[in-house]
Amino acid sequence: MSTVIPTIVQPSLAPILALPRGISGETPDALRAWFLARGEPAFRARQVLDAAWRTGAASPAGISTLPAATRAALATEFTWDTVADTELQLSDGGDTEKALHRLGDGAVIESVLMHFPAAPGHRERNTLCISSQAGCAVGCPFCATGELGFGRDLLESEILDQVRSAARRLNSRGRRLTNIVFMGMGEPLLNLDRVLAAVEALNDPRRFGLGARHITVSTSGVVPGIRRLTALGPQFTLAVSLHAARDPLRDVLVPLNRRWPVAEVVAAAREHAAATGRRITYEVTMIGGVNDTDADATAMADLLRGDLAHVNLIPMNKVAHTPWSASPMPVIERFAATLEAAGIATTIRHNRGQEIGAACGQLAAEHAGTPTPAVVAHRRERLVASSAAAIRGERSSEPVPAGIDG
Ligand code: SAH
Ligand code: SF4
Repeated sequence: MSTVIPTIVQPSLAPILALPRGISGETPDALRAWFLARGEPAFRARQVLDAAWRTGAASPAGISTLPAATRAALATEFTWDTVADTELQLSDGGDTEKALHRLGDGAVIESVLMHFPAAPGHRERNTLCISSQAGCAVGCPFCATGELGFGRDLLESEILDQVRSAARRLNSRGRRLTNIVFMGMGEPLLNLDRVLAAVEALNDPRRFGLGARHITVSTSGVVPGIRRLTALGPQFTLAVSLHAARDPLRDVLVPLNRRWPVAEVVAAAREHAAATGRRITYEVTMIGGVNDTDADATAMADLLRGDLAHVNLIPMNKVAHTPWSASPMPVIERFAATLEAAGIATTIRHNRGQEIGAACGQLAAEHAGTPTPAVVAHRRERLVASSAAAIRGERSSEPVPAGIDG
């Protein structure tokens, strides 16, 4: 029997195509073509790309190498910064900075910048966690973004302007962005074409120019998307949100598993590791009494034994409307020991920015409004029943979430 899931928010956002063109979403070829069509020399594309990506010009008016008429035309045709309306919140003594970005149509998304000071054997790292969608259609029940439901896909420029914004802030402090992770709001590989184009722009030496190994795409398991990422060629890092190694429980924790079961996801990840020589990162959000038993650890060890893989165990961050919370640390340590005994590199990670709700995957719940008590009660009841059935080994009979195909 399938249940109708009440949505907390019904976003009614303007159609994505009505949004203005952001300059950062333009490829070098598209910009060259734009100049040629206006009867201007193609080399102007280079000047614009440098201004947008390197010198941090605040608007086309600041590109002094261009004629005034060209600057005016650029300002009319393109939005220079699609996340201009940005608010900042700090935590971890200033080392974690959450940015709320209001987009052209009023949608609010978030990115999180984390500073990791240099330590013996490690250089300083500045990692930015970016969003790929407003909300998310996958609906993992422990995730604040999933609770929002799906709003809309982000444009390529809206994805990239989160990076330009953070890079500007860092540069003004004499720091440099060293890593980008697609672990903010949304399922990157369900906004596939735009995310892949953004990933290429970040890697392109004529644009952001960050090494592929420093760009991580995290997915809940969109198999055709993983294959497309692999086919791009560069050694982008793949993170897979695994959470459970057995289908009955993963069906509940990651509803996309009903479309692409865990064995298919891991097979696609192995192909990525084989093609790129890069270890796959598997993320496991540790939920007390739900996915942290010895049987779960053994199943995960059996699934990943011998793979080019690394497992990150992350204690679940509190999310307002689920009945669940983090596994106790000794339980997480025991789970890690089982994986390590099978030869699988395992780390226990603490999420940053908890007091500002800035842990990756925990973004934007505060914009969702408060669900009615009836909706909360329904969600809790459904989760308790479905996870209990999953722990008994029964597969979910609920449908694949709406909006997921491919
Ligand atoms: N949709 C993609 C990327 C965004 S979520 C994905 O699921 O991989 C980024 C990470 O945050 C995922 O591994 C997700 O499982 C994790 N996450 C979500 N909610 C969390 C919570 N409440 N506590 C800890 N990790 C969480
Ligand atoms: Fe979407 Fe990732 Fe959250 Fe799941 S964990 S609901 S896939 S953002």
